[in-house]
Amino acid sequence: MEKRLRLAPSPTGLFHIGTARTALFNWLYAQKIGGKFLIRIEDTDFLRSKSEYTTNILEGLKWLGLKWDEEPVKQSDRISIHKNYIKKLLECGAAYRCFTTENEISELREEQKKKGLPPKHDNRHRNLSKADIETFISQGKTSVIRFKIDENIKITWVDQIRGEIKWQGKDLGGDLVLSRRSLGYEIGDPLYNLAVVVDDNFMNITHVVRGEDHISNTAKQILIYKALDFKLPIFSHTPLILNSEGKKLSKRDCVTSIDEFRDMGYLPEALANYMAFLGWSPKSSEGEILSLDEISKFFDLSDINKAGAKFNWEKLNWINSQYIKKMELIKLSKIIQRYWDDMSWKPPSQEWAVKLAILLRDSMTVLKDAIDQSKPFFLLPPIEKEGQDFLENKDSKASLKLILNYLIHQNTVKLDQEKAKAIINEISKRHNVKKGILMKSLRVAFFGCLSGPDLVQSWELFSESKSDISRIERCLITD
Ligand code: GLU
Repeated sequence: MEKRLRLAPSPTGLFHIGTARTALFNWLYAQKIGGKFLIRIEDTDFLRSKSEYTTNILEGLKWLGLKWDEEPVKQSDRISIHKNYIKKLLECGAAYRCFTTENEISELREEQKKKGLPPKHDNRHRNLSKADIETFISQGKTSVIRFKIDENIKITWVDQIRGEIKWQGKDLGGDLVLSRRSLGYEIGDPLYNLAVVVDDNFMNITHVVRGEDHISNTAKQILIYKALDFKLPIFSHTPLILNSEGKKLSKRDCVTSIDEFRDMGYLPEALANYMAFLGWSPKSSEGEILSLDEISKFFDLSDINKAGAKFNWEKLNWINSQYIKKMELIKLSKIIQRYWDDMSWKPPSQEWAVKLAILLRDSMTVLKDAIDQSKPFFLLPPIEKEGQDFLENKDSKASLKLILNYLIHQNTVKLDQEKAKAIINEISKRHNVKKGILMKSLRVAFFGCLSGPDLVQSWELFSESKSDISRIERCLITD
């Protein structure tokens, strides 16, 4: 039988890292077992669902490289089918109309609260007669459809991540609401637990992999599966992603949507690679920098941890920097170029842009670092305190004068790295100046401080953009 997995996002917000990781685990497992990865957009919460969010989720999946195998199913297209199944449950006596009003429910909650009990419906309308129903309806009362949950029923399943899970009917909050309120004999809009079962059955889903916050829903859904005589899929519940304090990662943790990660300059391959290890520890150690295809070969749901997975920025940054380092240079320089375009910075040539990309790639953590790190190559940086202090040292200005004289008299048109090294060596030897002083002085001239990227490589770039001489001169201006 074909193995079929799905992601069933609700388009009520931007593509969230938690949903992305669930998608990734589904995708990896589908690859591993030679199955299909499908999408169902659960857009029946009409107040909160937006088509922009659907687009954002699908774009995000594509960006991460998680291709799906069939046209996505839209849950809202299937409402009449869901209602037919509710009708079926009503007809066979597994469900019933419940006229309890919102006020009555609030009163019940209050009473339960006072007694320290968890909220639970008291199933008061489970056995209404036809005549009672008729009366309520003629009084214009609205009703929901409730699914009967036997207090004594035991629900057990083998979860691929957590092993055997047991629930009892009495812990499921009373009879389950299947549809929103409606008037007369109408059936209101179907709710999540009913729709998800009907749709997973329709899509022939064999494996349901979703977050652990759905465990109690699974217990309820298993009862619906049985009542409708549907074949049960295999369930797996993944651990939640936690922030550094061990709490569920939320909007308050600043970055939660995949767009934000992309905008900060994380590469899709790096983010996907990182997310795979977020809660999953492979049995064998194959290294940590792996493509999704490589991971899918030895990925297994049974190696996913039960405990929540702490989001670790350091690890993500490290993985991203590794991907930047091994990125094809032309591709990297094109990406960097986009940041420069935003800043209206123009490189003197394509070749220069590639050379700068080579210089920067080893120190970049995220692509956005390209802005800060390439800034001194486009804009003259001020001389910082440490630079000024260094220039107070008499040898430093003297060194800069020697370099300046050399450049002017030799009329060095194009200076490459070899030539730059040779100049430093020659001046050092001829004038008996320490190479360290020469280099630090140049660094202050170029960058305004004592730190920065490789000096010789940088000099080549400053020479090509014709700003090395002027940068040296500005340090000597007061002399
Ligand atoms: N729409 C549900 C959610 O986004 C789907 C849960 C499921 O996978 O069944 O949480």
